[in-house]
Amino acid sequence: MTANSTDTRRYSDEIWIGKLSMGASNPVRVQSMTNTNTLDTEACVAQAIRIIEAGGELVRLTAQGVREAENLKHIKAELTQRGYGDTPLVADIHFNPEAAEVAAQFVEKVRINPGNFVKSIKSSSDYSDEEFEQERLLLREKFIRFLAICKQHNTAVRIGVNHGSLSERMMNRYGDTPLGMVESCMEMLRFCREVDFKHVVISLKSSNTRLMVNAVRLLVERMDAENYHFPLHLGVTEAGDGEDGRIKSAVGIGSLLVDGIGDTIRVSLSEAPENEIPVAFAILQATRSRITKTEYISCPGCGRTLFDLQSVIAQIKARTNHLTGLKIGIMGCIVNGPGEMADADYGYVGAAAGKVSLYKKQQCVEKNIPAEQAVEKLVELIKASGDWVEKE
Ligand code: SF4
Repeated sequence: MTANSTDTRRYSDEIWIGKLSMGASNPVRVQSMTNTNTLDTEACVAQAIRIIEAGGELVRLTAQGVREAENLKHIKAELTQRGYGDTPLVADIHFNPEAAEVAAQFVEKVRINPGNFVKSIKSSSDYSDEEFEQERLLLREKFIRFLAICKQHNTAVRIGVNHGSLSERMMNRYGDTPLGMVESCMEMLRFCREVDFKHVVISLKSSNTRLMVNAVRLLVERMDAENYHFPLHLGVTEAGDGEDGRIKSAVGIGSLLVDGIGDTIRVSLSEAPENEIPVAFAILQATRSRITKTEYISCPGCGRTLFDLQSVIAQIKARTNHLTGLKIGIMGCIVNGPGEMADADYGYVGAAAGKVSLYKKQQCVEKNIPAEQAVEKLVELIKASGDWVEKE
């Protein structure tokens, strides 16, 4: 597919991360990352459980050295003991191929950063062609050795390129640009293909939403051209906290999801990691990438509004927000209401003062119901149509 398709998902290969499938037609997976000390088993386990209970499907932990990588074994064992062993763990590695090799034996996926997987052979970015090739071969050797260990243990790999940590070599050739991020990634993908390593997911992240979106779109074009279909992990790094962090994440991740791009997402907030999970699901819902709750299509209200919009929305949500996958339109008047909620499954529309009409799809099925009965009538309509389930 092209990156600009609005109603189809980019084709990606299905890969496995432990017992979790990703890519192809699998749901876009939601993940988060602990911020505890990886040597503190109990703290990591407790936080991982909070992430999983919130709906996280993968949990990433940093492993800055071999000791931390080794402790992943204890964290995995404790999670398994407490009944959370099916959720894959991901080790996050920077600067330390040895830690990556150890982690690959204990967790289901290892993220490496091509920008720091091997030490640069130079301290300046002034590389000759020979030096560029010399460092590429060094990276190839270490990475292929790591892939062999991953293959042996059925461990998946994320190639995670960050804008802020491109290698000196890539900076020399391509500058601090989306192209540099893409070239860094493509080089690693060619190594994967060379040894037929398939369980790979890719991310290109930046704290700059425009740069991140442009880099991922460019990567998709380049992968299409070389017939690569690896799944993509989306995220905006250092998005911040509160409303700013949520909006920034929604803009960056959401722009790509509406293009049909993305197989797993992580919202990076400067908050407790479990707070990221509902935001991730909300972004997936808003982009209609993964529907997990009822969607309400409600107008903002204006001088034509025929009822107390906010209180009616609250009443309808209280009765229906346990349903999954329905779209319910709530419109203040008949003028724009039915047209604006054209793809809703059910509609609640102001018809006259104190009167409401109910819609099923685009058909008006009950006219001029007294407003005080209308919410219950809407529930009855959903029940009669077979779309109701009782609250658990
Ligand atoms: S649907 Fe009617 S009440 Fe709501 S904003 Fe539009 S014109 Fe106003």
